[in-house]
Amino acid sequence: MRVGGRLVVGQLRVQEIARGDGRVCYTIMDTDCTLVAEADGFLRTCAAGTDRTYAYVLVDHLRWLRFAGVTVESVSLEDLRHYMAALGAHYPGPFGLPWREGKRPYGHSALKTAAACLKGFYLHLGTHGVNPALAEVLRTTRLPTRADRRRAMLGHVLHSMPANPLAPAERVRRHPKMLPEDARDLLLGALSCARDRMVVTWLADGGFRIGELCGLRLVDLHLREQAACGQCRGPHVHICHRENNTNRARVKTKTPWTWQDNTVCGGTVRRASPAMIPPTSNTSPPSTPPRPLTACSWSACTAPPEVSRGPPQRPAACCAGPQPVVRSDGWSRTPAGTASPQQCWTPHGATR
Ligand SMILES: [Zn+2]
Repeated sequence: MRVGGRLVVGQLRVQEIARGDGRVCYTIMDTDCTLVAEADGFLRTCAAGTDRTYAYVLVDHLRWLRFAGVTVESVSLEDLRHYMAALGAHYPGPFGLPWREGKRPYGHSALKTAAACLKGFYLHLGTHGVNPALAEVLRTTRLPTRADRRRAMLGHVLHSMPANPLAPAERVRRHPKMLPEDARDLLLGALSCARDRMVVTWLADGGFRIGELCGLRLVDLHLREQAACGQCRGPHVHICHRENNTNRARVKTKTPWTWQDNTVCGGTVRRASPAMIPPTSNTSPPSTPPRPLTACSWSACTAPPEVSRGPPQRPAACCAGPQPVVRSDGWSRTPAGTASPQQCWTPHGATR
C-alpha cells in the first residue's frame, strides 16, 4: 500500500547490532538504511532483553503510524487506542482500517507489553519536547491497591501508582498455570532422547524459564552438599544473567552475581531436586573448567561444548551422534537414546 506516493508497509525494520564483547543490541532502521532517531534513543534506554522485545513492538507501531498517515509529533491518545484495538485490544467502537491482516490478534500479555512499550516511548519523546501533550496524558496515576501496598516498601504511605491508559484490564487468575496431572510422566515416556528427558525433568522440578535453562553453564551447577559458594546447604543451581552466551540465551531476572575463588556466587539460587541430580552424586566437574561452558552445550549430545556455536541444538540433532564425546578435561558424554537424563554427563572412566 502507498501513502503519499511512498511504500509504507514493511518500510521499517529491526536491526541487530553485534558488539565486540558478544552483546547484541537492537535498533530500528529505515529503508534507506538511516537510523530512526526517536526509536533508537528510546531503545538505548531499555535494559538488555527488553530492547529486543520493544524493538519488534515499536517497529510495528511506527509502520502503523505511516499507514495511518500520522507522525509521532501529531499522534493522540485516541489514535493510540485505535492502534491497540487493531492489535487485538477491546475497543468500544470502530477503529479504522484493519491492520495485521491474516495474523492472530495479540494476547493479554502481548497487549500489556505493547502498552508498556508505547507509554515508555512517548514519555521518552515527551522529555525531549516531542508531543508533550500526549506524554502528559499518558502520565496518569491510580489509587494503590492492597496488593500494591503489600508489595512496596513503605507501602502504607503510598498515595498513587503509575497507570497506563493503553493497558488492557487486569485479569485475575484464580489458580496458577500448571501442567495437567500425569503430563510429565507422559512426556517422559514419549521422549527417547536423554537430553529431552532431562530438559523436561529440569523444567518441571526447577521451575526454570527457558532462557534460564538454556543459559546455564557448568560452573553454575552446584549439585552437591556444602558447595564452596556457601549460599545453600543442599544441591542448587545459580541462575546468572549473561550477555555473551553463544546461543543468545539470556536470563530475564538480572540478580547480581560474582565470580569469586573459581566459584559462582549470587544470581538467583534455586534448589535442585533429587531427580535433577545424577546418581554419581559428584555431578559437577571436580576441577572447574578453564572457561565457562554454555548450558545448551552441556545438554546437547552431538558436539563438545568447546566447539559448539550458534543456535541451541535441536532435539532431533541430539540423537545423531552415536559415539561418545570425550572432552579434554576428562569428561565424556553418553550417546543419546540409551542414556537416562542423569547420565548425560559423567566423569570419563567413572563406573556407574
Ligand atoms: Zn552455589
